[in-house]
Amino acid sequence: EINISEQIQSLLHKYYWLINENELSLTYSLEDITVKGNPDLLYTVWENLLTNAIKYNEPGGSIEIKAEKTNNQLAIEFTDSGVGIKSNEQSQIFDRFYRGDSARTRTNQGTGLGLSIVKEVIELHEGNIYIYSQLEKGTTFKIIFPRL
Ligand code: ATP
Ligand code: MG
Repeated sequence: EINISEQIQSLLHKYYWLINENELSLTYSLEDITVKGNPDLLYTVWENLLTNAIKYNEPGGSIEIKAEKTNNQLAIEFTDSGVGIKSNEQSQIFDRFYRGDSARTRTNQGTGLGLSIVKEVIELHEGNIYIYSQLEKGTTFKIIFPRL
């Protein structure tokens, strides 16, 4: 059993300085959530989502992370107040090597592999990932695991 909340806490520890340096505010609320699977792969998922929330944000922006249990599922959400993703791009961002317009015109580097790995790892763990995004307003990635 992997404690997701602990993984996210140690991740926040690691990225604390970068979040500060980018003048972002961070809020989080993490209930104890555990999942069976591969800890390194799952850690990579949270790391990809957090680094995206940092990269595709603006100074003064915010990042919010939530982990919560309901009766039949576990939900983890990463929300940012960043550049957002056009609706016509939202279906492509999980494709290998796909980088959005905003990413390509920005100076930040990337391969476009992050989210394709995220999706694959989540599905290997019987989860699903959903995206809610509005251009220039921000983005939420929501991951749902069935509660066994
Ligand atoms: P890599 O993760 O390999 O360093 P990347 O960040 O460009 O590169 P992905 O993480 O797969 O690749 O993301 C694909 C594209 O989706 C990004 O290029 C960007 O356009 C868009 N994207 C991902 N996360 C966000 C976000 N939080 N806000 C806005 N756009 C995003
Ligand atoms: Mg990425």
